[in-house]
Amino acid sequence: MKITFWGTRGSVPSPGPKTVRYGGNTTCIELRTDENKLIVLDGGTGLRVFGDACLARKEKLDCSILLSHTHWDHICGFPFFVPAYIPGNAFTFKGPVHYEQSLKDVMVGHTQYAYFPVRVEDMAANIQYVDLKEGTFEEAGLKVVTRYLNHPVLCLGYRFESPRGKIFCFGTDTEPFYNVFGSEGDPDAENIAEDLNTRIVDFVRDADLCVWDGQYTPDEYKMKQGWGHTSTVQCMEMGIKANVKHFCYTHHDPNRTDDQLDKILEDSRQYLKERGSSMKIGAATEGVTIEL
Ligand SMILES: [Zn+2]
Ligand SMILES: [Zn+2]
Repeated sequence: MKITFWGTRGSVPSPGPKTVRYGGNTTCIELRTDENKLIVLDGGTGLRVFGDACLARKEKLDCSILLSHTHWDHICGFPFFVPAYIPGNAFTFKGPVHYEQSLKDVMVGHTQYAYFPVRVEDMAANIQYVDLKEGTFEEAGLKVVTRYLNHPVLCLGYRFESPRGKIFCFGTDTEPFYNVFGSEGDPDAENIAEDLNTRIVDFVRDADLCVWDGQYTPDEYKMKQGWGHTSTVQCMEMGIKANVKHFCYTHHDPNRTDDQLDKILEDSRQYLKERGSSMKIGAATEGVTIEL
């Protein structure tokens, strides 16, 4: 598997000289299988840049675009994804079901005339929609497992297992479950949260690469619990428990500068050293490919 980052930023694009190294586009990942089959993960503004790269190669596209969820920063690149305007290309959006709207309703809705001049229905490529829940399915020759994450809208994490036994996990826009199920200290309620976190650890277990929301520092997280994003230390503790080999923070905070991210990685390596962990730590970087 080859994993290429086209968008690594969280919440809103953040171009400029202070984000040029790790990138300012919002979430989009290109996944190529060993047989060179394509899966796209999320359609943030990085999807536009990926589309332009495909056009430059004159590549015909027929693939799934798996969505973590439909918050703007994860879908707003699609109207600017030029391959969607080319007849003969085909895309299937797969993503979480909403309580009142299907995935198609949401994707069609965000290109109403009030927001954008071209409707998704008028794009020339063949575009299909599949509502996903938790489950297991096959995609481009990979086994895919989905799990609900903890975010203020239904959000899915994805685990990919290749025939060679390589494992890639992707979870963005999530934070550890905590006790919202009962009064503080209520052991039953605390156990519910703990069980849900154990399910996530099992979900990413033995991953060769785990790309995960690491938007906040531990101090920032204290102020922003409930916003649906994880702190770096929470990420590392999850990775250690799950025996992850390479952990990669993504959904970088829009205010985070490149130099601050360098410092976060330096602090993280020190933290892992003190914990006696050999887990590799990194930060998703636009334009970088990781091969498993
Ligand atoms: Zn997001
Ligand atoms: Zn979100």
